[in-house]
Order: sequence, then C-alpha cells, then structure tokens
Amino acid sequence: MVDLHSQYLHIKPGIDKGIQDVIDSCAFINGPAVKNFQEGLEKYLGIKHVIPCANGTDALQVSMMALGLQPGDEVITTSFTFIATAEVIALLKLTPVLVDVDPGTFNIDLKSIEKAITPETKAIVPVHLFGQCAPMEEIMALAKKHNLFVIEDNCQAIGSDYIFNDGSRKKGGTIGHVGCTSFFPSKNLGCYGDGGAIFTNDDELAKQLRVIVNHGMVVRYYHDVIGVNSRLDSIQAAILNVKLAHLDEYAAKRRAAADFYDKAFANNPRLTTPARYAKSTHVFHQYTLVTRDVDRKSLINHLAVKEIPAMIYYPVPLHLQKAYLDPRYKPGDFPVTEALSKSVISLPMHTELDDEQLNHIVTSVLEFVNR
Ligand SMILES: *Cc1c(COP(=O)(O)O)cnc(C)c1O
Repeated sequence: MVDLHSQYLHIKPGIDKGIQDVIDSCAFINGPAVKNFQEGLEKYLGIKHVIPCANGTDALQVSMMALGLQPGDEVITTSFTFIATAEVIALLKLTPVLVDVDPGTFNIDLKSIEKAITPETKAIVPVHLFGQCAPMEEIMALAKKHNLFVIEDNCQAIGSDYIFNDGSRKKGGTIGHVGCTSFFPSKNLGCYGDGGAIFTNDDELAKQLRVIVNHGMVVRYYHDVIGVNSRLDSIQAAILNVKLAHLDEYAAKRRAAADFYDKAFANNPRLTTPARYAKSTHVFHQYTLVTRDVDRKSLINHLAVKEIPAMIYYPVPLHLQKAYLDPRYKPGDFPVTEALSKSVISLPMHTELDDEQLNHIVTSVLEFVNR
C-alpha cells in the first residue's frame, strides 16, 4: 500500500545523517532533534504548542486526561474509524457515543452529532478520515453552544487545510481545543518506528499535556498528577525533521495519484470515487472507492495475482467489534457506516506511484469490475 523504501532512497543522505548525529551525540531521549522537530511542526501548522509523544493513540489518551474528562463522561465520535479513537475513550472509562458518517466524505455526520448530545456529553472527537477534514466550523459552533471540548483525531490528515466560510484557512488538527496526530511509518508524515504529537493553542492545556506525557512530573521526582510515559525518541524526531520539509510535496504527489484514479474510474457504474469536501484540502492518506455489485474478496484476489495490494479500511464498524459490543447498539444502528464497511476498498496510495504503476492498477481494477 505504501513504498517507504523508494521514498527513503530519495532522502537518504539527510535521513542517514540525522540518525548518525543522534547516535554520535547519544542524546537518545529528549535530544535537540526533538526540540527542533517540535518547533518546526509548530511553525508548519501555525500553532503555539506541539507536544511530541510516543504514538497517535497516546496523543488521544493524554488529550482526554489533560482535559480532565472523568469516568462516565460521554464522548461523541464516529462509528467509522480506526479502533484507537474509541479504545482510549473506553480505557479511561469514559462512555463512547458513536454516530454515523456522511456517505460521501466518510466523515462524522453533523446532524447525528447534534442528536447524540446529552447533559453528560463532554467532548466530540471528529476524525479527519482518509485525509480530509470533518466539518470543523460547524462542529466548533455546536461545541461552543453546548460547552464541549473538541479533540481532533488528525492522524490521517496532517498537512490538510480547513477552509472556513470566510475563506480563511487553518491546518487540520489546529481548530479544536486539541489536535492529535500519529507518525506511524505509513502515515502521511511517518517516522521509522512509532511517534505522535498533540497540538494546542491553549497555554495552560499545553502545560498540563507536557506534565502528563512525562509521568505527571512538574519538578523532577515530584508527581502532581497521574501521568504516563509517552515520548518521541530523538532518532524518530531526526527522521521527521527531514520528512517535514517534504510534507507538502508528498501531499501533492498523493493528490496527483488520486486525480489519476478519479479520472480512470469516473462514471463507472460499479465504482464511486471519493468525494472531495469543499471545505478541506485532501491529503489522501487513503484512496478509497465505494463498490457496487462487486465481489470485493475476488477483486482483492484478482489484484493480488497482479501484485497489487488492496485493503479494506475498515471491515467492521466500531459498534460491531467484539470488544466494543454494547447493549446500547445493535446491527442496523449506523446504516451508512455498515454499508461502507461492506463496500469500500482502498488502493495503493503513496508518494512514489508513477504513471506505469497507476496504469497497471487502474487497468487491473477495471478489467475485474467491467467483466
Ligand atoms: C493511526 C491512527 C491512530 C493511532 O495512531 P498510532 O500512532 O498507531 O497509535 C488513531 N486514529 C486514527 C484515525 C489513525 O489512523
């Protein structure tokens, strides 16, 4: 699905030097590379505070801890996302309240959020799925009206721009009270291991986030709150420093591949190309088609024979996952999510796709669906 090795070869000298410098300095934890990356990302995102941490899941968990969410508090999120979003809600004994998604953008449905708000609701977690932002302006208005926190799960959309009604722009992940991202290798800004970060413009919240990622420690060995150990290590930060400079160029390459796919699959009665939301740029973490009357398993096998990977993101909606079964929910409650989980397919999407590869992929897909 991604070609990290070819991408590495293009930036090898910078990456190799970055890693070697960390080894030479032996500043493996909290070295200068981490601070450099933090400041570089703050500048790129146009945000006051970036708090690096160990992974995207921790970013979400630490955000919920720092906002003071308490057991029993309801947190509204989408039923169509990677499990991490709901996992941390459940781990903190908060109550995940799931809502359905928009069939075009796959992002959380605004009207359903409004209907799900109760006096116990404390936060909304929109997920910017597959690379474009959820309707943030409307979500923020709703949150303000009901006095709720908004935690953006921006793990799949780093580098996207949200476009407000007045035409102004902000980076995805910088609009809510707090934004979270992941640097998992296959993410749009990926390191060579695990990594993550939290964004906020709130000085007090930033202080609290920094304390919690570091064992709740304000002064060394004095622990004021219960924290966790969640660090971005210096080698990963050195790699991210090199890759951050390429992030916009990488997004452009992904978009070009998406345009190629869009054109090839346009007007095909069996395939719906991903909708592009007018209020967000799309950084195409995934290129996801909705199929109609296509045997997906056979399509995936057909592609595999031609050495083309294809994946289903996500095959099971959150409310139907074994660990998350809940008497509040039953099959049929989230019809859009359930239909998508049965019909979507994601094609290879990365920075190194050339026209020959793209041709091979679209020809192979069309060969199957048109027969
Ligand atoms: C990848 C991802 C996460 C978790 O990130 P990790 O770094 O793997 O912990 C959370 N939410 C979404 C939507 C993701 O895609």
